[in-house]
Amino acid sequence: MKRLVIAIDCDDVLIDSTKYVISQYNQYYDTEVKLEGAFSINDRDFGATRTQVLERFNDIYRSESFRQLKPYTEAMEIVRGVGRRHELHIVTARDPILEPVTVRMINEHFPNCFTKIEHVGEGSKGNLCQVLQADVLIDDGFRHLVSAYDCGVRGLIWFGNYPWQAEDPKGIPVRRCLNWREVEAEIERIASR
Ligand SMILES: [Mg+2]
Repeated sequence: MKRLVIAIDCDDVLIDSTKYVISQYNQYYDTEVKLEGAFSINDRDFGATRTQVLERFNDIYRSESFRQLKPYTEAMEIVRGVGRRHELHIVTARDPILEPVTVRMINEHFPNCFTKIEHVGEGSKGNLCQVLQADVLIDDGFRHLVSAYDCGVRGLIWFGNYPWQAEDPKGIPVRRCLNWREVEAEIERIASR
């Protein structure tokens, strides 16, 4: 069994954050942003410029109430086991200023599971995966899997079943995993090939 280097996204893979952030956003700013459009930021739906919206998201991530949000139970169980057999890294598109928020959550709920915690912000996850020599990227965001594929990563796990995952994966060899049990099986399959 090969020891793999696995890059794992944080939001909506380890923790159900987008649903929470959007519901808080709608409440604070009196908007009706739908989950389908959570990643298509525009003035009309969000009532603010992209820069303002990203600042507002960061405020929500840094709030005390966000801190109370717990990761997926299944993720906490399975990541610990997978982390004993493989080298794991967090690769998140969160703004680097959110690093303390991410680190606190990881230390609290995934102690000693991850070698590195990387914040790429608006940068390329693919480039970072290449630097880490990742064999696998686990992400709910299709564009990040495409970016990793373009940088030579061949283990592409498209995680979850969310309203914003409308892309047709044609041409990109992603494996869809709806939950962490499926991810675990897929990782073992990749490691034994
Ligand atoms: Mg994500």
